[in-house]
Amino acid sequence: MRTLLLFLVVEFAIMSSPLASEKPFSFKDTPGKLPKEVVPTDYSVRIIPEIDKLTFAGTETVKLDVRSHVRQLVLNALELKIEAASIDGQELPAPAIKIDEKNELLALTLPSELATGEHTLTLRFRGKINEQGQGLFYMRYQEQGSAARKTMLGSQFEATDARRFFPCWDEPVFRARFQLTAVVPENWLAVSNMPIESEKKIVGGKEVRFAATPPMSSYLNVFVAGELDFIESRSGPTQLRVITTKGKAEMGRYALEVTAQILQYYNDYFGVAYPLPKLDQIAMPGGFGGAMENWGGITYYESKLLFDPKSSSAETKQDIYEVLAHEMAHQWFGDLVTMAWWDNLWLNEGFASWMGSKCTAQFNPQWEVWLRREFPRDPTRRVGIAKEAAMEGDARSTTHPIQQSVATEVEANSAFDDITYKKGQSFLRMLESFLGEDVFREGIRRYMATHTYSNTTTADLWNALSETSGKPVAEIAAGWTEQPGFPFVRVKREQRGDVSLTQERFTVNFTNAPALEWKIPLTYVVVGETPETLLMTRKSDNIHNIPPGRALKLNVNGAGNYRVEYDQPSWKLLLGALKNLGVEDRVNLLSDTWALVQANRAPISVFFELVEKLPASTELAEREQIIHVIDFINRLLSGSSEQGKFQRYARSLLRPTFDAVGWETKPDDPGAAATNLRASLITALGNLDDPKIVANCRERFKAFLANPESLPPDLRPAVFSVVGRFADEATWNELHQLGLKTTSIEEKQNYYDALAGAMDPKLVKKTLPIALTDELPTSRAVFLVSRVARESGHPDIAWDFARANMKALLAKTDALGANTYAPSLFIFFSDDSRAEELGTYAKNSLPVASAPQVAKAVDEIHFRSEFKKRLARQLTIWIDEKTNRE
Ligand SMILES: [Zn+2]
Repeated sequence: MRTLLLFLVVEFAIMSSPLASEKPFSFKDTPGKLPKEVVPTDYSVRIIPEIDKLTFAGTETVKLDVRSHVRQLVLNALELKIEAASIDGQELPAPAIKIDEKNELLALTLPSELATGEHTLTLRFRGKINEQGQGLFYMRYQEQGSAARKTMLGSQFEATDARRFFPCWDEPVFRARFQLTAVVPENWLAVSNMPIESEKKIVGGKEVRFAATPPMSSYLNVFVAGELDFIESRSGPTQLRVITTKGKAEMGRYALEVTAQILQYYNDYFGVAYPLPKLDQIAMPGGFGGAMENWGGITYYESKLLFDPKSSSAETKQDIYEVLAHEMAHQWFGDLVTMAWWDNLWLNEGFASWMGSKCTAQFNPQWEVWLRREFPRDPTRRVGIAKEAAMEGDARSTTHPIQQSVATEVEANSAFDDITYKKGQSFLRMLESFLGEDVFREGIRRYMATHTYSNTTTADLWNALSETSGKPVAEIAAGWTEQPGFPFVRVKREQRGDVSLTQERFTVNFTNAPALEWKIPLTYVVVGETPETLLMTRKSDNIHNIPPGRALKLNVNGAGNYRVEYDQPSWKLLLGALKNLGVEDRVNLLSDTWALVQANRAPISVFFELVEKLPASTELAEREQIIHVIDFINRLLSGSSEQGKFQRYARSLLRPTFDAVGWETKPDDPGAAATNLRASLITALGNLDDPKIVANCRERFKAFLANPESLPPDLRPAVFSVVGRFADEATWNELHQLGLKTTSIEEKQNYYDALAGAMDPKLVKKTLPIALTDELPTSRAVFLVSRVARESGHPDIAWDFARANMKALLAKTDALGANTYAPSLFIFFSDDSRAEELGTYAKNSLPVASAPQVAKAVDEIHFRSEFKKRLARQLTIWIDEKTNRE
C-alpha cells in the first residue's frame, strides 16, 4: 500500500506541476565527478603530523567494492603528494599515478583489469597543515592564565576538503566506514568521530587509534589534537564531553548541560536514538568562524560554545544554544541521513536551521527566536532566525532557487548561503504549520527510519510527509524549492463580506522579473476569531463571509514565507485593531510594510504611521523590527543633510521605550527579553547620537576601567560600541589595550568590534591594519575590515585599505573568501559610481567564480542609491508634516 500511495503522489506532482520534479535517491543517478563502478567501503588512515614543518605524512588502506570491470581508479586528492600506491599488494609504477590538480582528482592506472568483488588499495602520501580552516590546519593561541603561545590542530572538510587530508571518494554519496590512527605528542589529547580504541607510546609521542565510524560521508570526518581539557557527563548510553584548550573547560558547563537537554529532545523527535557511543563538543580558538557538524565530534569557534558567567552576555548564551541545537540536529539530518549531492544542501541546512530553532524555542520561549530579526553582529553567522534577511535577498534579481544544480567544487562551497539556510528553514516552518505539528513529526520519523545510514533527495522527504499527511506535499513544495523568489498576496474588500486575493511575485529593484506563481498555504484570521487555512492554487481566489466592519489579517503569526498588501479599507481596519493583535502579527505587519516600502509599493510614511499607532510596549521582537529599520535608514542617510532631522525624529520614537526599560535590571523585568532590548536600544540610540546615552556610556566605561564588575556582562558589547564610536585617541588606546590583554575570545571580539566602530577617520586608519596582525584569530581578523566598512561610516577608507592589502587579507581566509571578500566590502556603498568601480575591479582582479557575489553587490549599490534619494524625499515630507501637526 505504501508503495502504491507513494507512486500516486509522485505521478500527481509530475502531471500537474510545470516544474521538473526530482526523483527519489538512487546511487547511480546521483550527480558527481567520480565514476560509480568502484565504491569504497572501509578506510584505515594513519597520519603523522610534522608540526614544525607544517606538513604531515600519511598512509591508508581502502577496501573497495568493484561493481564492474575497471582499468582505472578515480578518486579525489588535493595538495597531496602521492608517494606510493598499490592494488591488492601489487605496487603501481610512478607513471600510473596521475594527479589532476584542476579537477582535484587522482587517477590510478591499473596493471590489469580489476575483476568485480572486493579489492584493497594502499596509498602513501604527504600533505600540508594549513593556516586557514581548510583540510588539516593549525591554530596558534594564548593559553588561559599564562603568557604561553600554543599550537593545536583541527580539521575542516565540508564541503570538499577531506581530499586535502587523505585521498578519498570525497562526494557525499560514497558512504564508508573510516578508521583513523594519528601520532601526536604525549601530552596532547586527540579527538575524532569515535572513541579511542587503543593508545601506545612510540618514538616521538604516542599513537592513538580510534574506533571505526559507521558508514558516513567523507566530509564528516574530524581530527582535533592539542593540549586540551574537557568536562564530561552521560545521557543514557551516550558519553558527552565539552573539549577546550587548557584552563577553559569549566566555561563549557553551560554547553554540556544544554547538550544533554537537546540530545534527549532529538532522540524523541526523530524517533531514532543518537547512534554513536559519544558526542564531543569541541571549542577551537581560531581557524574558522562558525561550527561544523562532524559526526560525534562537532567543532565550534570558541565563542560559539564557551560561556563564562562572569563575563559573557545574554546574547552569547542564546547564540550558543541556537548553534548547538543546529549542529546537533545535523547529527541526524545530515550525518545519519545525508543529502546525496550538494544540489540538495538545503535538506541539511534548511532542516537543521528549522529544527534548531524549534528546539531552541521549545526550551527558551523568552528568546522569541521565531520573531527576532537577526542582527548582523557576526558576519560569519549562518544559523539563527532570519526569515526577513532571506526574504530580502530572495526578492532581488540575484536570487536563486533553494534547489540548484551544482557541478563544481566552487559551486558546492557557494551553496552555503541565506537562501539555502534561511529560506529553507522558513519554508519548512510554513509547511509544518500547514500540515500540523504532529503530522509533520510523524513524517520526519518515517523519513529517518526509512533512510538511516543512507542518502536522500528532497523527493524522499516530500514522499514521507505526503504519506503521513495525505496531502500533495511535493506539488506544494515545488514552487518554493525549485523556482526563485516568493509571492505577495493582494487583499481587496469586495461587496457583502467577499474578499478577493491575488498573488504576484514580490520583487525589489528588479524590473521585468519573470512572473511566477506559487501554491500558497495561506492562513487568515478575522481578528479575535479562530484562524482558517486556504491552499491558494491559482492566481486569484476569494474568501467569503468576512464581516465588513471587522479587521482581517493574513499570514497568521507571520509563519508563512509570503508578504501581504492590504487595500485602504482593510489597512484602516487593521490599524484600528492593533491592540487586539498578538506580538507575532504586529511584527509581521511591521516587516511586510517595510518590505513594501523597499519595493516602492508604499511610502515610508505608511511604516512610521504604523509605528506611531502601535500600543506603547516593550516587546523585544516588535521594538527590534523598528530599530532595524531606523538603523538602516540612519546608515543610508549618513553624511546627507536629512540625517540630523531623521535622527531627532527616530530618537523621539525610541526614547520612551528606553525610559521604560531603563539602565538597571528591575525586579519585574521579563528576563532575557528586557536585557536584550536594553542592549539593543543603547546601541541604537548611540548610533542616533543621543547625547544622554553617549554621556552615560562614557561614565559607565570609566567606572568599568576602575572596577570591571560595575558593568554587567550583558551591557558590555553595547556600552563599548557606543564608547568606541565616539572615541578619541586615548579611549581607542584603552579599548585596544583591553583587547590585547584578554584571553577570552568573546571579550576580545567585543573590544575589537568597538574599535571598528570609531568614526574619526584618523582612528579608522589605525584600526584597519590590525586585520593584518595576529591579534585576532586568523578567521576573524579579515572581518575587522568589513566591520569598519559597516560601522565607521567610512566604507571608502576600508575599501582603499583592503584593495592595497588584498593578498595578505585573502591569505587569512578560505577558498571562498577570494570570491566573496572584495564584493562584500562594496555593499555599504550607496553611490552608483561604486558599482562601476567594482565591475572594473572584478574584471581585472577577481576569479570568474566571484560573478554571483559581484552581481549581488552591484544590485545592492544600485538599490541603495535609488532608495536613499526616495527616502530622503519622503521622510522630509513626513517629518515636516508631523512637526506642523504638533
Ligand atoms: Zn548546518
